[in-house]
Amino acid sequence: MISRSDLAALDARDPLAPLRDRFVLPPGIIYLDGNSLGAMPRAAAERVRRTLDHDWSQALIKSWNSAGWIGLPIRVGEKIGRLIGARSGETLVADSTSINLFKLLTSACRLRPDRTVIVSEIDNFPTDLYIAEGVASLFPGKLELRCVRSDEIEAAIDEQVAVVSLSHVNYRSGALHDMARVTRLAHQRGALMLWDLAHSAGAMPLQLAACDVDFAVGCGYKYFNGGPGAPAFIYVAQRLHAQLATPLSGWFGHAQPFAFDPRYQPAAGIERMLVGTPPILSLVALDAALDVSLEASLEQLRAKSIAMGEAFVTLVEHELTSFGFTLASPRDAAQRGSQICLRHEHAWPITQALIAHGVIGDFRAPDILRFGFAPLYLRYAEIGAAVHILGLIMADGRWRADCYQTPSTVT
Ligand SMILES: *Cc1c(COP(=O)(O)O)cnc(C)c1O
Repeated sequence: MISRSDLAALDARDPLAPLRDRFVLPPGIIYLDGNSLGAMPRAAAERVRRTLDHDWSQALIKSWNSAGWIGLPIRVGEKIGRLIGARSGETLVADSTSINLFKLLTSACRLRPDRTVIVSEIDNFPTDLYIAEGVASLFPGKLELRCVRSDEIEAAIDEQVAVVSLSHVNYRSGALHDMARVTRLAHQRGALMLWDLAHSAGAMPLQLAACDVDFAVGCGYKYFNGGPGAPAFIYVAQRLHAQLATPLSGWFGHAQPFAFDPRYQPAAGIERMLVGTPPILSLVALDAALDVSLEASLEQLRAKSIAMGEAFVTLVEHELTSFGFTLASPRDAAQRGSQICLRHEHAWPITQALIAHGVIGDFRAPDILRFGFAPLYLRYAEIGAAVHILGLIMADGRWRADCYQTPSTVT
């Protein structure tokens, strides 16, 4: 059993503790949703303000050159590349995760023209499945989406498969796939491998180059703290760049955008995955936010995230046994990402009551309470306090109040 003083001791010797100060965290709030929208780094806000006050308002269009706006997708991509184990020149920042999935899945299928199947997981994040469906619909009768359960993936990868598209960490349960193993298997069967890193990038060490991963995507606004709607990242192994034919052949992916050539000529490297004018205000926020992640050791981040998850599960098991929660995440910390999910038939009103009492987690239909542990800025003591507050809400049944029953658009 872990005590409140054990948690205080963990905070006292946490090597990441000084980084909390880099974030604006509202008083009285325990924020367990950094896996969905990361907290705001002070440096990101300052950088946006400077961009507004100087680069946009004063220097105007000159800033594309003088403030280096034009190079931001690559420069910010390089920072992310260091955090996901990519080689230099393999990562850039552009568009959204959904759009990047479309670009990569279509490119992957074009690289395997004799193959007819995209493999994914039934429990994958819906946009990953919807986009794959959309890609398949562009090749009627020639391409289909094969969605299987997690334990059926290996058997589903046969010689018909062009690309295997999986989320590294499941958005709901937090279950973690073995990246090296699944990638190797896909390659042995002649398929390409795409990983969606939305719930792992920024929370654990990743080795995309060492695992020989072909493609990856991920979000800028989750553990990278780039702000609401921050642009996403896109990774392509160097060995594929020259053959890569993106379906969204926009002018920013042209070899010479400012030659205004009427014919499309793709850029030589990963730049060909760019489409149009990048969102500079969002990019500068993400650029500044990533400097905080780069200060941390990814091994220390992973160790803290595991310790926090363990503390949370242990406390729930000891303090909340009588309230009907079951663990919906793997019990073994090595098998999960940086989040814990509890299942409860009244998950929605309980989540609303928790938020009203200052503990922000989220609800995932139909019956999941999801708690993300962002190791850059959370304290161990907050994990203890969150479980304590959950216990209070359950003990007197206050989650049953009418005000917690109303559904909202964003959960
Ligand atoms: C959050 C998330 C997304 C979000 O995609 P957007 O295009 O940014 O809306 C996609 N895939 C997974 C696995 C996610 O967790």
